Amino acid sequence: MTPMAELGLSGEDRDLFEGVIAGRRRALAKAITLVESTREDHRQRAQSLLAALLPHSGRSLRIGISGVPGVGKSTFIEAFGMSLIERGHRVAVLAVDPSSTVHGGSILGDKTRMELLAQREEAFIRPTPSSGSLGGVAEHTREALLLCEAAGHDIIIVETVGVGQSETAVAGMTDCFVLLQLPNAGDDLQAIKKGIMELADLVVFNKADIDPAAAQLAAAQMRSALAMLHPASANWQPPVLTLSALRKDGLEEFWQVLEKFRDTLGASGEFAARRRHQALAWMWQLVDSGLRDGFRRHPAVSDRLADTAAEVEAGSITPTAAARRLLDLAGQQK
Ligand code: GDP
Repeated sequence: MTPMAELGLSGEDRDLFEGVIAGRRRALAKAITLVESTREDHRQRAQSLLAALLPHSGRSLRIGISGVPGVGKSTFIEAFGMSLIERGHRVAVLAVDPSSTVHGGSILGDKTRMELLAQREEAFIRPTPSSGSLGGVAEHTREALLLCEAAGHDIIIVETVGVGQSETAVAGMTDCFVLLQLPNAGDDLQAIKKGIMELADLVVFNKADIDPAAAQLAAAQMRSALAMLHPASANWQPPVLTLSALRKDGLEEFWQVLEKFRDTLGASGEFAARRRHQALAWMWQLVDSGLRDGFRRHPAVSDRLADTAAEVEAGSITPTAAARRLLDLAGQQK
């Protein structure tokens, strides 16, 4: 038995803990709502709950999926998710949606998507948190990911739309980052930023049913483009696949490639190394944002912040001198 009292859990949160461990969807949903809350007392309860559940997390394959709106992410995730359930897996789908942080509306994660998958007991689909900065949303998704693992979901899919920063955030919390592409984008290959291509462990051209030859051509172009980049792993050259999510064509091959990826990086130790690196990077991100918040809230700093910023904008003080002044002010009162 886990010594709950020692873990700082009481009453309601013990029930949540047990519900999550038992894989109950309502408990998992409530636990995620708790970690998404910005209320200070909720934050503390959430941290105790996460600490208690941490030993039960980690046993999943975390897959990041990115692509522009309309590329077929939800069609693909639903078809792939259903095929995984048929193989006996339990799937969770989470999202990092940068649009939700700008206007509260969300491109991803509304309830009408993935209807078949959503009805399955073995699946858990969570819409994206709809407030806060991208960093805040990503942090909540990371915590939700751990909760889903503790609830026994052994395949976690984190999806995002293709706009730079959110892709980096998702690649930073998953084991395998998949770039979903449209086949007619061949000529626009340059439009995909090099930085994003370098994140990809696997590139998939969806909608290959529309024009199979175009899809093959796009895949070939992508292969040559990838060959010129520095691969993230010495043991893994990112494969390029074509498939049709709509016709459920190519899903089997996709899964085989994922298994090969897991085996290859598992054998070389890179899989575990990535997770260690990600955990440490996450810690530093939180330290950085905590320091930044503390800095802005510091009374001496907040008194002078607006003036100093105006001086920088007016060009009457250098950014270096301004930063030094503010940092000195923050250092004065301990
Ligand atoms: P998302 O915005 O990336 O989640 O894209 P959706 O999954 O909503 O798909 C956008 C549209 O493309 C929908 O009308 C899908 O039916 C269609 N679609 C998705 N996958 C395929 C595919 O493999 N082939 C074809 N022909 N259409 C597809």
